[in-house]
Amino acid sequence: MDLASYADLVIELVNTQDPVQDSLRDLDSLQELLKIRPHLSGRVTRRDLDAMRDLRSELRAIFTSAVAGHHEDAVDRLNSLLIQHPIHPQVSGHDGQDWHLHLTESGSVPDRYAAGASMGLAVYVSTHGIERLGVCQAPLCGKIYFDTTANRSRRHCSDRCADRANVAAYRARRRENADAEIGSRERGR
Ligand SMILES: [Zn+2]
Ligand SMILES: [Zn+2]
Repeated sequence: MDLASYADLVIELVNTQDPVQDSLRDLDSLQELLKIRPHLSGRVTRRDLDAMRDLRSELRAIFTSAVAGHHEDAVDRLNSLLIQHPIHPQVSGHDGQDWHLHLTESGSVPDRYAAGASMGLAVYVSTHGIERLGVCQAPLCGKIYFDTTANRSRRHCSDRCADRANVAAYRARRRENADAEIGSRERGR
Protein backbone atom coordinates (compact mmCIF):
# COMPACT_ATOMS: atom_id res chain seq x y z
CA MET A 1 0.00 0.00 0.00
CA ASP A 2 1.38 3.36 -1.08
CA LEU A 3 1.99 5.67 1.91
CA ALA A 4 -0.11 8.52 0.50
CA SER A 5 -3.05 6.21 -0.08
CA TYR A 6 -3.59 5.63 3.67
CA ALA A 7 -5.53 8.90 3.70
CA ASP A 8 -8.02 7.30 1.30
CA LEU A 9 -9.02 4.95 4.12
CA VAL A 10 -10.56 7.98 5.83
CA ILE A 11 -12.65 8.92 2.80
CA GLU A 12 -13.72 5.33 2.11
CA LEU A 13 -14.92 4.75 5.67
CA VAL A 14 -16.61 8.09 6.36
CA ASN A 15 -18.41 8.05 3.02
CA THR A 16 -20.15 4.76 3.81
CA GLN A 17 -22.77 7.00 5.41
CA ASP A 18 -24.87 9.94 4.30
CA PRO A 19 -28.14 11.38 5.64
CA VAL A 20 -30.10 9.02 3.37
CA GLN A 21 -28.31 5.70 3.77
CA ASP A 22 -25.74 3.81 5.78
CA SER A 23 -23.79 1.19 3.89
CA LEU A 24 -21.89 -0.06 6.94
CA ARG A 25 -24.69 -1.85 8.74
CA ASP A 26 -23.54 -5.43 9.12
CA LEU A 27 -20.52 -7.71 8.90
CA ASP A 28 -21.06 -8.32 5.17
CA SER A 29 -20.89 -4.61 4.41
CA LEU A 30 -17.75 -4.34 6.56
CA GLN A 31 -16.12 -7.18 4.58
CA GLU A 32 -17.16 -5.36 1.42
CA LEU A 33 -15.38 -2.18 2.59
CA LEU A 34 -12.21 -4.15 3.45
CA LYS A 35 -12.19 -6.25 0.29
CA ILE A 36 -10.01 -3.85 -1.69
CA ARG A 37 -7.50 -3.69 1.21
CA PRO A 38 -5.96 -7.13 1.58
CA HIS A 39 -3.59 -5.87 4.33
CA LEU A 40 -6.56 -4.83 6.41
CA SER A 41 -8.93 -7.70 5.96
CA GLY A 42 -9.31 -10.54 8.39
CA ARG A 43 -11.96 -12.12 10.54
CA VAL A 44 -14.33 -9.49 11.92
CA THR A 45 -16.90 -9.60 14.70
CA ARG A 46 -19.86 -7.51 15.74
CA ARG A 47 -17.54 -5.62 18.10
CA ASP A 48 -15.23 -4.78 15.23
CA LEU A 49 -18.19 -3.40 13.32
CA ASP A 50 -19.11 -1.18 16.27
CA ALA A 51 -15.48 -0.04 16.55
CA MET A 52 -15.44 0.83 12.84
CA ARG A 53 -18.66 2.79 13.17
CA ASP A 54 -17.22 4.71 16.15
CA LEU A 55 -14.07 5.41 14.18
CA ARG A 56 -16.22 6.68 11.33
CA SER A 57 -17.88 9.24 13.64
CA GLU A 58 -14.51 10.35 15.02
CA LEU A 59 -13.08 10.85 11.55
CA ARG A 60 -16.15 12.72 10.36
CA ALA A 61 -15.92 15.04 13.36
CA ILE A 62 -12.39 16.02 12.29
CA PHE A 63 -13.72 17.09 8.90
CA THR A 64 -16.74 19.00 10.24
CA SER A 65 -14.53 20.84 12.75
CA ALA A 66 -12.00 21.71 10.07
CA VAL A 67 -14.69 22.99 7.69
CA ALA A 68 -16.23 25.10 10.49
CA GLY A 69 -12.80 26.73 10.92
CA HIS A 70 -12.15 25.04 14.28
CA HIS A 71 -8.72 23.87 13.24
CA GLU A 72 -7.34 23.30 16.72
CA ASP A 73 -10.30 21.16 17.65
CA ALA A 74 -9.84 19.14 14.45
CA VAL A 75 -6.15 18.62 15.20
CA ASP A 76 -6.83 17.69 18.84
CA ARG A 77 -9.25 15.03 17.66
CA LEU A 78 -6.76 13.71 15.14
CA ASN A 79 -3.97 13.65 17.72
CA SER A 80 -6.09 11.67 20.13
CA LEU A 81 -6.78 9.09 17.42
CA LEU A 82 -3.03 8.85 16.79
CA ILE A 83 -2.43 8.18 20.48
CA GLN A 84 -5.23 5.61 20.73
CA HIS A 85 -4.14 3.76 17.59
CA PRO A 86 -0.35 3.67 17.27
CA ILE A 87 1.08 2.48 13.97
CA HIS A 88 3.15 -0.71 13.68
CA PRO A 89 5.33 -0.06 10.66
CA GLN A 90 7.16 -2.72 8.68
CA VAL A 91 9.10 -2.61 5.45
CA SER A 92 7.49 -5.11 3.14
CA GLY A 93 8.28 -6.56 -0.28
CA HIS A 94 5.46 -8.99 -1.00
CA ASP A 95 4.22 -10.07 -4.44
CA GLY A 96 7.41 -9.02 -6.21
CA GLN A 97 6.91 -5.35 -5.35
CA ASP A 98 9.74 -2.98 -4.37
CA TRP A 99 10.38 -2.59 -0.65
CA HIS A 100 7.66 -0.34 0.69
CA LEU A 101 6.26 0.73 4.01
CA HIS A 102 3.27 -0.90 5.67
CA LEU A 103 1.98 1.08 8.64
CA THR A 104 -0.32 -1.44 10.23
CA GLU A 105 1.18 -4.87 10.60
CA SER A 106 -0.48 -5.97 13.82
CA GLY A 107 -3.64 -5.63 15.88
CA SER A 108 -7.33 -6.19 15.21
CA VAL A 109 -8.90 -5.11 11.93
CA PRO A 110 -10.39 -1.89 13.38
CA ASP A 111 -7.11 -1.07 15.16
CA ARG A 112 -5.16 -1.47 11.95
CA TYR A 113 -7.72 0.50 9.99
CA ALA A 114 -7.73 3.28 12.61
CA ALA A 115 -3.94 3.43 12.77
CA GLY A 116 -3.59 3.58 8.97
CA ALA A 117 -6.40 6.10 8.51
CA SER A 118 -5.20 8.40 11.32
CA MET A 119 -1.60 8.34 10.12
CA GLY A 120 -2.71 8.89 6.53
CA LEU A 121 -4.81 11.88 7.58
CA ALA A 122 -2.00 13.25 9.77
CA VAL A 123 0.45 13.08 6.86
CA TYR A 124 -2.12 14.65 4.54
CA VAL A 125 -2.96 17.54 6.88
CA SER A 126 0.67 18.32 7.63
CA THR A 127 1.67 18.13 3.96
CA HIS A 128 -1.26 19.86 2.24
CA GLY A 129 -2.93 21.89 5.02
CA ILE A 130 -6.05 21.39 7.08
CA GLU A 131 -8.02 23.76 4.80
CA ARG A 132 -8.01 20.95 2.26
CA LEU A 133 -10.50 18.89 4.26
CA GLY A 134 -13.98 19.27 2.80
CA VAL A 135 -17.59 18.27 3.48
CA CYS A 136 -19.98 18.28 0.53
CA GLN A 137 -22.42 21.22 0.72
CA ALA A 138 -25.09 19.61 -1.47
CA PRO A 139 -28.36 18.91 0.35
CA LEU A 140 -28.63 15.35 1.73
CA CYS A 141 -25.03 14.49 0.89
CA GLY A 142 -22.37 15.49 3.43
CA LYS A 143 -19.73 13.20 1.93
CA ILE A 144 -16.16 14.19 2.70
CA TYR A 145 -13.29 14.86 0.28
CA PHE A 146 -9.83 16.34 -0.03
CA ASP A 147 -9.92 19.60 -1.95
CA THR A 148 -7.09 19.38 -4.45
CA THR A 149 -8.02 22.48 -6.50
CA ALA A 150 -5.34 25.18 -6.77
CA ASN A 151 -7.50 27.87 -5.15
CA ARG A 152 -9.27 25.59 -2.66
CA SER A 153 -12.63 26.32 -4.23
CA ARG A 154 -14.20 22.90 -4.14
CA ARG A 155 -17.54 22.72 -2.31
CA HIS A 156 -18.86 19.34 -3.39
CA CYS A 157 -17.82 15.71 -3.23
CA SER A 158 -18.50 15.05 -6.92
CA ASP A 159 -19.56 16.64 -10.21
CA ARG A 160 -22.96 15.13 -9.64
CA CYS A 161 -23.44 17.02 -6.37
CA ALA A 162 -22.02 20.23 -7.87
CA ASP A 163 -24.59 19.97 -10.71
CA ARG A 164 -27.43 19.31 -8.28
CA ALA A 165 -26.39 22.33 -6.20
CA ASN A 166 -26.19 24.54 -9.31
CA VAL A 167 -29.68 23.53 -10.39
CA ALA A 168 -31.04 24.18 -6.88
CA ALA A 169 -29.37 27.61 -6.77
CA TYR A 170 -30.72 28.46 -10.23
CA ARG A 171 -34.26 27.51 -9.21
CA ALA A 172 -33.96 29.53 -6.00
CA ARG A 173 -32.80 32.57 -7.97
CA ARG A 174 -35.67 32.18 -10.42
CA ARG A 175 -38.17 31.95 -7.56
CA GLU A 176 -36.68 35.07 -5.98
CA ASN A 177 -36.91 36.97 -9.27
CA ALA A 178 -40.51 35.85 -9.72
CA ASP A 179 -41.34 36.96 -6.17
CA ALA A 180 -39.64 40.32 -6.75
CA GLU A 181 -41.66 40.79 -9.95
CA ILE A 182 -44.94 40.03 -8.22
CA GLY A 183 -43.90 42.37 -5.40
CA SER A 184 -43.20 45.27 -7.74
CA ARG A 185 -46.43 44.65 -9.68
CA GLU A 186 -48.39 44.73 -6.44
CA ARG A 187 -46.66 47.90 -5.36
CA GLY A 188 -47.45 49.43 -8.78
CA ARG A 189 -51.19 48.94 -8.30
ZN1 LIG B 1 2.18 -3.77 0.44
ZN1 LIG C 1 -21.93 15.31 -2.40
